[in-house]
Amino acid sequence: MQVVNIVEKMAWDKLDTVLNSKENICKCEKCRADMIAYALNKLKPRYVSTERGEVFVRAQYMDVDLSAAILVALTEAVEVVGKNPHHDKE
Ligand SMILES: [Zn+2]
Repeated sequence: MQVVNIVEKMAWDKLDTVLNSKENICKCEKCRADMIAYALNKLKPRYVSTERGEVFVRAQYMDVDLSAAILVALTEAVEVVGKNPHHDKE
């Protein structure tokens, strides 16, 4: 049995939406992971066991406050990491 942080799942799901709304942001795997890490450090995790995960995750997606908080954290993360990618520019 695994335990997952549903905030992390949701952040990955929403990252593309945030990235697509920005231009000139590096979208490589490294930057994406950095953005998720940055956002997750700002957010309170919510852990569920995967047995009840499916139902629970769907319920959380309806949580407007949680969704908004994740979007705010991701937007900030994209701006911060996007300006300072942790790798050399191509
Ligand atoms: Zn990058």
